[in-house]
Amino acid sequence: MATKQSRLKAKTKTGSCHRCSGLCCRYFALPIETPTNWKDFDDMRWYLAHENTSIFVEKGDWYLNVHNRCQYLAGDHRCAIYEIRPKICRTYKTDDCDFTGDDYQYQMHFTSEEQLSKYMKIKFGEKVLDRLKGRAKPKRKARSA
Ligand code: SF4
Ligand code: SF4
Repeated sequence: MATKQSRLKAKTKTGSCHRCSGLCCRYFALPIETPTNWKDFDDMRWYLAHENTSIFVEKGDWYLNVHNRCQYLAGDHRCAIYEIRPKICRTYKTDDCDFTGDDYQYQMHFTSEEQLSKYMKIKFGEKVLDRLKGRAKPKRKARSA
C-alpha cells in the first residue's frame, strides 16, 4: 500500500514506471489536522464541496486528496519536464507505490460532502441538519437566583 509520503510525491520513469500510466501524477494528497470538533468537520465539508476532492484516514492520519493530474504528465505517460521536475518527484520511489503496492486500506474515505454530513449526523447527533442550516437553538442560560 502506498504510504503517506508516496502520495505526496510523483515519480521517475524507471522500472515499473515504464509500464504504468503515471498513476501517482494524477492526484496529490496533503495531510490535514485531525478533526476534533464541529467546526473542523464543517471545514472538511467545504473541502468536499469542491470537485475532485476526497478525504481519507490512514493509520489514524487524515488527508485531503485532490484528484487532479499534473499538467506535465504527457500523453505517453511520461513527464514533460523530467529534467527539471520538482524534488518531490525526483525522490519518489516505486516501492509500495500506487502501481506496485497493495490496495489502499483506508480506515475511512469520504468522497462527497453528503457522505461526510451523514457521518457528522452519527457523530454529533440528530440535530446536525439544524446546525448545518445554522438553526441550532442556543443553550439556555442558567437562571440567576
Ligand atoms: S505509480 Fe509507481 S510505477 Fe506508476 S509512475 Fe508512479 S512511481 Fe512509477
Ligand atoms: S512534474 Fe512530472 S513527475 Fe512530477 S507530477 Fe508532474 S508529470 Fe509527474
